[in-house]
Amino acid sequence: MSARKVVLVVADHARDAAECRQFLAMLGLALPTPKRKPGRPPVDHGHGDHRTYQKGCRCDDCREALRQYHAELRAKWRQDPSSADRAGHGKSTTYRNHACRCTKCTEANRVATNEYRARRRQRAALAETGGAS
Ligand SMILES: [Zn+2]
Ligand SMILES: [Zn+2]
Repeated sequence: MSARKVVLVVADHARDAAECRQFLAMLGLALPTPKRKPGRPPVDHGHGDHRTYQKGCRCDDCREALRQYHAELRAKWRQDPSSADRAGHGKSTTYRNHACRCTKCTEANRVATNEYRARRRQRAALAETGGAS
């Protein structure tokens, strides 16, 4: 029996996650770590910090911290024309985040906006037909 199957069997018989983990520990098996842990994981910088968000926390405080961090970063970039050079031209992100309006970035942003609109139209059309193609 593969370890994966053992985990499934154990999970089937355990009353809860704690018991399941206990069974697996007795068998010498570790539970596969879930991608996103429920609740707030222990963190270095505390919640309401963009670094915590980047570590994978998606709580409201961390989301808000990231939003503010990006807003500050963008404001800083706009003050510094060389930041667009560092980010590289010909990208819609350079157009948006660094407020670069050179020909390359403007064109990249135009393409990205068109693609975005096309995707939205496609989704709207799919929703109308009930998702059937
Ligand atoms: Zn958090
Ligand atoms: Zn540019």
